[in-house]
Amino acid sequence: MSLFMLALFGKANAYTGDDFHRTWFWMDKPQVIEICDDISIKKEMVEEALLFWIDNKVIEEKIEIKLISNCNDDYHMDAIMITKHKKFDIRKYYAMTFLDEWNGQGILGARIEIDPVEHENIILMIHELGHALGIGHEEEDIYHIMYPKVLSTPTKIE
Ligand SMILES: [Zn+2]
Repeated sequence: MSLFMLALFGKANAYTGDDFHRTWFWMDKPQVIEICDDISIKKEMVEEALLFWIDNKVIEEKIEIKLISNCNDDYHMDAIMITKHKKFDIRKYYAMTFLDEWNGQGILGARIEIDPVEHENIILMIHELGHALGIGHEEEDIYHIMYPKVLSTPTKIE
């Protein structure tokens, strides 16, 4: 009985497509996710985070994930770069996503910067990847993966 109730509860709580606010759009689809070697983030974790966005139909299919060492550029064309913090204060934030937008017409590239201490934090990775894919914050629902202070509240990831 209790298992059945749990299953039912889980289903009722699942995200729907309407739960995600698409705030920015890519000019073309991102072709690659690049993990810089300045931070020890596992490919498998990024893959898992990407699956969240595929399951929730924000993107249609997998994006190739590569490890790279040339991380001095701010952006790479059609790529989502994941790198350690460079342009934000790690005393104030866990991570930050920057978008290279062309004349406000669309995203050309994205860069996710993460405090190296959080390199295994899948919730944070899903959240920032959401921004990089064009999804904005969800201010009202504290359990939402796109809640601004996602690490300070319990978060549903199914
Ligand atoms: Zn955010």
